[in-house]
Amino acid sequence: MIENTLRILFLSAEAVPFAKVGGLADVAGSLPKALRALGHDVRLMMPRYGTINSDEFGLEKIGEPFRVPAGAGKEYVHLIGATMGADVPVYLLWNEHYFTSREKVYGFEDDAQRFAVFGRGVLGALKQLKWKPDVIHANDWHTALVPTWLDVSGWRDPFFREIATLFTIHNLAYQGITGRLILRFAQMDELEHLSVEQPGAVNWMAQAIAHSDLINTVSERYAREILKPEMGMGLDPLLKQRQDRLNGVLNGLDYEEWNPVTDPHVPHNFDIDALNRRAANKTALQQQARLPVRSKVPLVGMITRLDQVKGMDLMEPVLTWLLGERDAQFVLLGTGDPRYHRMFESLQERYPDRMRAFLKFDGVLARRIYASADMFLMPSFVEPCGLGQMIAMRYGSVPVVRETGGLADTVTDHTPEQGHGTGFVFQDKTPEACQGALERALRAYQDRDTWRALQMRAMATDFSWTASAEEYVDLYHRAIAVHG
Ligand code: ADP
Repeated sequence: MIENTLRILFLSAEAVPFAKVGGLADVAGSLPKALRALGHDVRLMMPRYGTINSDEFGLEKIGEPFRVPAGAGKEYVHLIGATMGADVPVYLLWNEHYFTSREKVYGFEDDAQRFAVFGRGVLGALKQLKWKPDVIHANDWHTALVPTWLDVSGWRDPFFREIATLFTIHNLAYQGITGRLILRFAQMDELEHLSVEQPGAVNWMAQAIAHSDLINTVSERYAREILKPEMGMGLDPLLKQRQDRLNGVLNGLDYEEWNPVTDPHVPHNFDIDALNRRAANKTALQQQARLPVRSKVPLVGMITRLDQVKGMDLMEPVLTWLLGERDAQFVLLGTGDPRYHRMFESLQERYPDRMRAFLKFDGVLARRIYASADMFLMPSFVEPCGLGQMIAMRYGSVPVVRETGGLADTVTDHTPEQGHGTGFVFQDKTPEACQGALERALRAYQDRDTWRALQMRAMATDFSWTASAEEYVDLYHRAIAVHG
């Protein structure tokens, strides 16, 4: 173990518990801890936003402020030390103007400059700390400058020359596209234009894809899907060029955070050996949703952003069939596009005894739904990894999903003949295909033993971070090998 211990620098714009906007924060808050538990010296760097409370996190200044080569060259960064979990060292990069005076993570006009300062600050910080990682693991476009600079300019400096890089794509929709003036600001004028970049623009995600030793995204299926124009968001030609460097690693699930045995918001805690207790949660949810309390009716749950990519355009015909022609109940929790709010409201008016749409964000209710719904529907058109189906499985709710991205890699289709599978999978983006999978689920639900076995297989699937962390360690070793 000792000789294989890696020094890993993990870069992210957000990480739980310091700052969270989306799923990236969960990954950045969990993966380093799992890597540490495997014995690696992993450390996290992220900006020190104004929202990060100094007392709450016991922040302490490290060393003296240092100058970063950005803008007019007069920007200073100061390292602030913290700890994540029991023992992951965290370095927050303080810069008053670009980070510490800001009350949120993203969404400013100068985001490109802000993350250029961060990237250059990270490189300076390593020198200041005299800590040379074996590999830098950069995540999403905000951290893309680092692997890019290391490849283009880092070879000139013996300190940086040997550092290998891995770049993870969490969200291909945000690429960090900005004008080429940013290169003057970042003092990287020599960076070459890529054919996937618009004339006069820099695409930071594309640059990191082009310049990192290895690249990965958050499921193997999604890694293949983004090689095609329909899902590549303009970067598919470049990804295809770098196909031999592109990998897929599923995100894990935080097993302490998501545990039906201890979850304080689940009225009746249960586990795989005491699944009977789950029935009381279903009763409680039916009451909360003001639906008829019926233990034997199949209850389909859904918790989602109300967005076109989540397959929302299928829902009107699917629910008209499910609630109009079959004996089932449906509970939705979601917010998003107003037109889908209206759609679910009008469906609820049509089927008041069958469905309830909670059109809000509610973390407690989400846990109650995971712990009570018999089936969990995720008909996503695009799903790089997906968290919902993994939580559902852990909480004994059988997933019904479209075969895409992480859904395809985490749910195996149930075949009654062979008695295996952990859910129900459909391919086409059509209401008929979705109904077909739901129909198979409704049929399987009629047989108590079959259903119980299916639930138990779903619950027993390993989505722990340990499994994912081991795969990342393999990628780090490969990155070091190809870096040479
Ligand atoms: P995405 O990140 O694309 O929204 P994921 O399935 O990866 O999809 O993660 C969504 C997470 O957000 C899940 O943990 C889900 O439970 C939660 N979530 C989504 N909508 C809501 C809501 N309205 N209330 C509470 N939790 C929600």
